[in-house]
Amino acid sequence: MSVSAQMPPVRRVLLKLSGEVLMGEKQFGIDTDFVAELAAEVKAARDTGLELCLVIGGGNIFRGMAGAAQGMERAQADYMGMLATVMNALAMQSALEKLGVETRVQSAVQMDQVCEPVIRRRAERHLAKGRVVIFAAGVGAPYFTTDSGAALRAAEMQCDALLKGTSVDGVYDADPKKDPTAKRFETVTYDRVLGDNLKVMDASAVALCRDNRIPIVVFSIREKGNLARVLAGEGVQTIVQGEA
Ligand code: UDP
Repeated sequence: MSVSAQMPPVRRVLLKLSGEVLMGEKQFGIDTDFVAELAAEVKAARDTGLELCLVIGGGNIFRGMAGAAQGMERAQADYMGMLATVMNALAMQSALEKLGVETRVQSAVQMDQVCEPVIRRRAERHLAKGRVVIFAAGVGAPYFTTDSGAALRAAEMQCDALLKGTSVDGVYDADPKKDPTAKRFETVTYDRVLGDNLKVMDASAVALCRDNRIPIVVFSIREKGNLARVLAGEGVQTIVQGEA
């Protein structure tokens, strides 16, 4: 059965950015100039009247799996990864506020001096006031990732879509960096993503989106202006959704 490639009408979205996007051209950490460019795109989206939630990964600083591979206890390494996501969230908050966008960071690991805890009703208030809410520390538990955090917050905040901004322009049937014949899907079902183990997000994140009927829009955030194009239904992207 075919599915439509149309961008769903959106009023509120969750934008997930992997930590690696914040590196820009660098090999590690945060490229503040590039974060400023990303913030300008987020501002432009917010200025269209869209309600925006953000989730940012931590892979540009620390990944739990990498720590575990070097002999650390996995849970301990995952907590370090969660702290990395808070650092990225604060960097994005600074960049947005420099542009005059009001933001609040809510962390799933409580850090009173630094940011708010995750409180859904408070996040609702922030969005109603036009603030961008940045959710940090994923789901707040080890053995998860910020993809799952993004799916969870998208469900909790009743977002119309989860936009996954990455370094590739969609979902392919093979790794486009390794296989030149790899084809990009316009749309693909959650079940195919899970069944064929396509690289979109973790299985738990995809399943949560499927169960809550949240379309996942995968697009390249590295190209300037792409967020606006995707939101306008004019971008190159893959939409992961249920069967029509
Ligand atoms: N992490 C975690 N629980 C969560 C979210 C993140 O343990 O709910 C840890 C995990 O170690 C992960 C790291 O934080 O590797 C950074 O997050 P992620 O890998 O999702 O970042 P991204 O790949 O999006 O940059």
